[in-house]
Amino acid sequence: MRKQIVAGNWKMNNDSAQTQALLAEIIAKKQEGGIAKVVVAPTFVNLQAAVQQTNGTGIIVAAQNMHQAESGAYTGEISVGMLKGIHVNTVILGHSERRAYFGETNALLAEKVNTALKHNLTIIFCFGEELADRQSGNHFNLVESQLREALFHISESDWSNIVLAYEPVWAIGTGETASPEQAQEMHAFIRNLIATNVSETVAKNISILYGGSVKADNAREIFGKPDVDGGLIGGASLKADDFLAIVNAI
Ligand code: PGA
Repeated sequence: MRKQIVAGNWKMNNDSAQTQALLAEIIAKKQEGGIAKVVVAPTFVNLQAAVQQTNGTGIIVAAQNMHQAESGAYTGEISVGMLKGIHVNTVILGHSERRAYFGETNALLAEKVNTALKHNLTIIFCFGEELADRQSGNHFNLVESQLREALFHISESDWSNIVLAYEPVWAIGTGETASPEQAQEMHAFIRNLIATNVSETVAKNISILYGGSVKADNAREIFGKPDVDGGLIGGASLKADDFLAIVNAI
């Protein structure tokens, strides 16, 4: 069965004390035996403490980004080896904020994907169309090109390290969610694309998360769709009760 995953992307929120407090609350309130894998992505400076704090809890700590080079003169950047060195084995790549504010292109993301896979990280790969693409009916083409240009070159076996996160940009942080039907339609399209371009097996096994204004009160309906395998949660992951309600909606 495909993995069901709920990941909290904390973005540039929570200093070290707040990170520790939020994690402590999540750990204390998280129900045993839930079927969803729980992932949290604090900022770089809080990753190491988060790894230690979540040790033995089953919660996975992910980075929000990494550089494509393995080391070198890249002031202010973080490498894959630095993440692995503190036991962070999962990284979010391609978030729409990285694409929009930091100029990350599909070609650059292909390089980051290669570096992450070379070091056996799990990648939560984000992609999704902007409002104008949806309004003009170009959303399927756009999503296809994002996947084709950043991911379709990898080997079939490397796909076991990929989790996809479809996040329509118009739904991120806006309070406007894709309807469960819109999410299912796109997720089915993506799974079919993978069946055609990679393999039926990969298509069947890959987890495809939905992201964009998922909240406790809409999660169940979205996660109930057959091709939606969980969510990538921004705003609602910053409060333990809201986040765990979403986790429990799986
Ligand atoms: P949101 O963010 O849940 O606040 O819309 C989702 C994301 O950016 O991953």
